[in-house]
Amino acid sequence: MVLEVRGITKRFGGIQALTDVTFQVGKGEVFGLIGPNGAGKTTMFNIITSMFPPTMGEVIFMGKKLTGLKPHEVTEAGVCRTFQNIRLFPEMTVLENVTVGQHCRTKSGVWSSVFRTGAQKQEEKSIREKALELLRLVGLEELQDTFADNLAYGQQRRLEIARALASDPKLLLLDEPAAGMNESETKDLFDLIQNIKKLGITVLLIEHDMPLVMRICDRLIVLNFGKEIAQGTPEEIKNNPEVIEAYLGRE
Ligand code: ATP
Repeated sequence: MVLEVRGITKRFGGIQALTDVTFQVGKGEVFGLIGPNGAGKTTMFNIITSMFPPTMGEVIFMGKKLTGLKPHEVTEAGVCRTFQNIRLFPEMTVLENVTVGQHCRTKSGVWSSVFRTGAQKQEEKSIREKALELLRLVGLEELQDTFADNLAYGQQRRLEIARALASDPKLLLLDEPAAGMNESETKDLFDLIQNIKKLGITVLLIEHDMPLVMRICDRLIVLNFGKEIAQGTPEEIKNNPEVIEAYLGRE
């Protein structure tokens, strides 16, 4: 198992955001977290990435306990995420937005552009090549010199994914990547997630776009008021009466 979420409970004062949630994700799987607004999905992402600690339970990633680590240590361990609201550097170019993500992984960090050693110049060249490779993956290579602010919405979303991939994650957490996308942008996103999966990267996906979720996920967990109401394949979830009642509705 790549990820083991064991008995996670989270309370914020009087609010019980998650109650004893357990699931496991295998290597290369796309695993969906779905449920109504306020069900606790983003809270689960925040706990996995150690943005805050759980009240109870623990998260294990490739045999290593993430609970108790600092968020940057979770990134270094190989877990990266995107956020519900786009968080790009709008006045940087598309390429720069991705290289910033990679500098998190370099030994020497970001150097002054004047005083660079040969080794640093070489490292910078390989960072640039890797960034271009990621831009090709997300279909933004031709826009590398465009300011992020000038991209269309769907392109900004894909750039965020490229930046998250820049730190070489083994597990990628996507928080509502299709929100606000039109049909053709969603189709591009579907292809991109498929390609990420082909690279062997495990994906955890929070998403409300049910046709996308049902097509792309290998397995899903459904949360309602912070509790698991079902877990299984898309086919099992679609036909689960409790899930239909709480979330999917009847057609
Ligand atoms: P959505 O689909 O709307 O994004 P969600 O399933 O991601 O919803 P969460 O954002 O995890 O739900 O919220 C779960 C519950 O926890 C909500 O009642 C929310 O108000 C509460 N909550 C989340 N984060 C905090 C926080 N930092 N402080 C207090 N309460 C919080």
